[in-house]
Amino acid sequence: MSRTALRQSPSWIGSVATGCVYFVVASLALMLSRFEGGLAFIWGANAFLMAELLTSRTAHWPRAIIACGIASAIATACFGMGPLAALPMAAINIVESLIVAVLCRWFVADRMVTGSIRPLIVFIVALCGVANMVSGVAAALVASALTPVSFGHSFVQWYTGHVLGGLTCAPILIMALQGEFRRWMDEASNRTKLEAVLLLGLFALTTVHVFFWARYPLLFAPLLPLVLIAFRVGHMGSAAAIILLAAIGGSATMAGVGPLTWVPGSTGDRIQFFQFYLALSFLLCMPAAVELAARKRLFLMLQQSEARYRAMAEYSGDVVLHISLDGTIQYASPSATEQIGCAADLLVGQAVANLVDPHDRATVIATHRLALEQPGAVHKVEFRPLVSTDGLEWCEMVNRAMIDERGLPSGVVSMIRDMSRHKARQRALQQVAARDSLTGADSRRAFLDKLDREIERVAIGARSSLLLIDIDHFKAVNDRYGHGAGDRVLSAFVERLRPGLRAGDSIGRLGGEEFAILLLDSDVDRASMLCERLRAILTEPITVGASLAIGVTFSAGLVELDGASDRSAMLEAADKALYRAKHSGRNCLRLAA
Ligand code: GH3
Ligand code: MG
Ligand code: MG
Repeated sequence: MSRTALRQSPSWIGSVATGCVYFVVASLALMLSRFEGGLAFIWGANAFLMAELLTSRTAHWPRAIIACGIASAIATACFGMGPLAALPMAAINIVESLIVAVLCRWFVADRMVTGSIRPLIVFIVALCGVANMVSGVAAALVASALTPVSFGHSFVQWYTGHVLGGLTCAPILIMALQGEFRRWMDEASNRTKLEAVLLLGLFALTTVHVFFWARYPLLFAPLLPLVLIAFRVGHMGSAAAIILLAAIGGSATMAGVGPLTWVPGSTGDRIQFFQFYLALSFLLCMPAAVELAARKRLFLMLQQSEARYRAMAEYSGDVVLHISLDGTIQYASPSATEQIGCAADLLVGQAVANLVDPHDRATVIATHRLALEQPGAVHKVEFRPLVSTDGLEWCEMVNRAMIDERGLPSGVVSMIRDMSRHKARQRALQQVAARDSLTGADSRRAFLDKLDREIERVAIGARSSLLLIDIDHFKAVNDRYGHGAGDRVLSAFVERLRPGLRAGDSIGRLGGEEFAILLLDSDVDRASMLCERLRAILTEPITVGASLAIGVTFSAGLVELDGASDRSAMLEAADKALYRAKHSGRNCLRLAA
C-alpha cells in the first residue's frame, strides 16, 4: 500500500485549508484540555502538519509550515498561554513536526511510514525518541516561565499529549492523504466491505458498551474485535477502529463517564490515561496489520512470479528439473518426453546422474555440488545423455540453487537443453579451421598443434622428424602460367605427395608454397629416405588442365624432433636447413646442424 508516489504539491488554498484544520484542532485542544492552566493535555494538531509534510514534496513544505505556524500562534494567543507564548510555541510545534518528517524521509526509503513494520518503527522512534524529547524541553521551559505549572509537570503533559496524539492520528491521516481509504473502497470486494462493516459495527458496539453502559471497567474488551479487525480487514480497518475508539472513548472520558472514572485524579490525568490506552491499542493492532498487508503483497508477488515460472517451465523447449540436495529429481517439466525421451512422471524420484553418460557423471555431480556451495551463481555443464534419442548427443545443463527461508540451499533448478546441433556445428567449424582450403593439407594452426603433441611424445621416448619443404622457383610458375594455374599446382602438389606419406604422418601448409611434414617414428635417416621418396614422386610433371604439364621441384630442411626443445626452436632449425638447401642449388635436402 505504501508504494504510492508523493502527492502533487497542493495549491495555496490547500495549505490554507491545512492551516484552518490545524487551528480548529489546536484551539479545541487548548479550550478543552488545559486542565492545569499550562499546556494542553491532548495534542493531535501536529499530526496534521506531520502528515502533510510526509506526503508532499519538500517544495511544498514552507507553505504548510507557514500556514500551520500562523494557526498555532493564533490558537496559543487566543486560547492558550497568551500572546507572549504564541511565537515560541508555534516554532516549537513546527520543529517537532519537522524533526519527524526529516527523520522519516531520511531513514525510510519510499518515504511512507505506513507501508510495513520498519517505516512504522522509524516514525515511532522519531516521534517519541527524538522530536518530543527536544520539543518537550523547549515547551516546558516556556510553560514554566509563563505559568505556575512546574517544568517537570509541563514536560510530562507535553510529552504524553504530543506523543499519544501523534501516534494515534498521524499514520491514519497519512493513509487518508495518500488516498488509501478511497483506494480500498475501489478495490475491496463487496464481501470484504460487508465483513469490514460488520466487524467495525461489532467493535463500535463493544466500545460503546465499555465506555457508556458497562458496570465494570472492561477496557480490555474492545481489544478482541480490534485484533480481529487487524487480521481480517487490515490496516485500513484498524485505522477506522482507532478513530471510533478515540471518538467514543474520548467523548465518554471528557463527559466524565465510563471506566476511566475509576482512575483517581483530575480529568487531565484521566485524559492522559485514555490517550495512553488509545496509543497502546494502536500499537497492538497497527504493526500486526501493516505486517499482514506487507505479507499479502509479498504473497501476491510470489503468486505472480510462480505463475510466470510455471508457464515458462511448462511451455519451454528446455527441460526444467528441480533436483534435491542429494541429486534426486523432484520435478520435471512436460518437455522431458520430447527432449530426452522420458515422461516427466518417470523422471521424478530418479537420481539425475542416471540420465548422464558415465563419462560425464563426475562433472555433472561436481557442478550440482558447486551450485549448492555458491547459491547466487549460475553453473553450466555439458554432458552426453545416457540414452541418446533422435540424435541427442550433447546436452547443456544450467544449474542454480534454490534458497529456503533461512537463506540455505534447498535444491537446484536445472535447465537442460539439446546441444547436439550446436556441437555438430562446432565440430564442423573446427574441421574447416583445421584444413587449408586450397590444398586440403592441415592448416598452419592445426599442424603446429600436432607438432606440439609430437614433441611431447618425443619427450617420453618417441623419435620423429620435421621436414620443411618449399617449392623451387614457384614465382616463375605463377608468372608463366598465371596465378590460377599456380593454385592448381599447389593443390596437385599436396595430392601427389600424400601417397608417399604413411598413415599417421601429417602434411601442413605453413604459408604460400611452403609446407611442413611430420614424419612419425622416424629418425633422421628414415626421414631422409622418406624425403627422397617424395622427391621421386615429383619427377613426373604435374598436369594442370587438359594439356598443361608443369614440372616442379622442392628444397627441404630436416630436423629430428628434440623433446627438450619447443616448437619454434624446431621450426627454426628446419628453416635454417631449408635455407642451406636453397643456397646449395635447390631441389635437395639438408639436415639441421
Ligand atoms: P625459391 O626457390 O627461392 O623459393 O623461389 P620462389 O619463387 O618459390 O620464392 P618466393 O618465396 O619468392 O615466391 C613464392 C611465391 O609463391 C610468391 C607468390 O606469388 C607465390 N604464392 C604464394 N602463395 C600462393 C598461392 O596461394 N597461390 C599461388 N598461385 N601462388 C602463391
Ligand atoms: Mg619457393
Ligand atoms: Mg617460399
